[in-house]
Amino acid sequence: MIRGDTIAAISTPPGRGGIGVIRLSGPRALEIASVIFHTKPHKPPDAPGRVHFGRVVDPAANEVIDEALLTYFKAPHSYTGEDVVELSCHGSPVVLRRVLALITERGARIGEPGEFTLRAFLNRRLDLAQAQAVRDCIDAQTGYQARVAARQLEGVLSKRLAPIKDTLVEVIVHLESTVEFVEDDISPAAAAALRERLEHVNESLKEIAGSFAFGRFVKEGFDLAIVGRPNVGKSSVFNRLVGADRAIVTDLPGTTRDALYESTSIGGVPVRLIDTAGIRETSDLVERLGITRSRTAIADADITLLVLDASQPLNRDDLDLLETVDRSRRIVAANKSDLPNRLGREIHGAVGISALTGSGFDELTARIFARLSGGQAVERDDILITDARQHASVTQAIARLDEARDLMIQRELEEIVLLKLHGALQSLGEVTGETLTDDILGQIFSTFCVGK
Ligand code: GDP
Repeated sequence: MIRGDTIAAISTPPGRGGIGVIRLSGPRALEIASVIFHTKPHKPPDAPGRVHFGRVVDPAANEVIDEALLTYFKAPHSYTGEDVVELSCHGSPVVLRRVLALITERGARIGEPGEFTLRAFLNRRLDLAQAQAVRDCIDAQTGYQARVAARQLEGVLSKRLAPIKDTLVEVIVHLESTVEFVEDDISPAAAAALRERLEHVNESLKEIAGSFAFGRFVKEGFDLAIVGRPNVGKSSVFNRLVGADRAIVTDLPGTTRDALYESTSIGGVPVRLIDTAGIRETSDLVERLGITRSRTAIADADITLLVLDASQPLNRDDLDLLETVDRSRRIVAANKSDLPNRLGREIHGAVGISALTGSGFDELTARIFARLSGGQAVERDDILITDARQHASVTQAIARLDEARDLMIQRELEEIVLLKLHGALQSLGEVTGETLTDDILGQIFSTFCVGK
């Protein structure tokens, strides 16, 4: 990617629509657009922050291609921080391609994936965490994902990190001046005060990093296996969770024969639901294959929902499942709670639900989320990190601060402590992008699509 040239791309999705937008960014954006865009009476569309009505023409053929609106954003008051022109044409792929060709013939280059946002980042219109939030916002599949991305776009993470970085810099400056100017070692009282400040910084970072336990699932989704013997209501529970009738529900045992994957969402968190074949001893080959797949699905799932039929006494199959399904990843649901309870014993930690009436499903969802976040209560509106790279950087900063603290306790040389503190600062800079190499930036922005 070369900075300083003028790029252009179709910014609306492929396909037909009411309008289609072509975006230009760079020093020649207005000049190029003015050659192919004519207003009536003919005057250049150079008033910034205004929308101009006119025609896109092919000057060589003297042919009108489309009626369009042109918006001019003058640098630095634009998305990228450069001169930006947006041409809103009619949303026809043929028209848009023709207009784009006219633009590139006049010297603009087709923008690479994410290049508009990369320029915004390089020109400090956004930090890296916000730039990634732009992508998450566009990629969002659920309203909740979009909400989390919108908060990140506003810079919640950067705002939380700013005072932490400030404190860290103050501690570094303090230690550095000690190294430079003071003959004696730093006093024990001063050292204790510095350690306390670092401790405080580390606590805040741990809180931020902690939100990734749930945050990673907000972005990537999770796998949920539903298991139980035939007829306990797995398909019905599955349908309740999905919110629509998508699996076949019957009274015949063994009709859900194969593992069935369904991508949907629970509370706005993407989930791949695996509705498994009823697990029981069987001589039917097809059913047996289904059962084998079920066991694999259970082993791979993030959470296994073990469904029991509360209207019947527990039998050997139920007990087998209770015995074999990994406790740390399972949630037990006692279904059919609308009927008299005949389970015969208390199952520790089981959630009473009824797929028929829907009762207990809020509690079940809360349990699923709590389990995903490793047992912590989930503050759904305080998810700061959904990105693995950001999480790795914050975790590394925490580790370096821990090391710095230990070194201070061992009364190591200030220079060595400082090395760790600078390292921590560097890691935090990677989250917002101040301290990243071009390679990594290239990698991050290549996950965008063209026109963003
Ligand atoms: P699966 O074989 O475990 O998938 O079970 P199904 O979902 O096919 O349900 C088996 C039977 O139990 C069906 O007749 C359902 O209508 C019924 N059923 C499922 N959930 C409930 C419930 O919560 N209450 C009652 N009363 N019946 C249910």
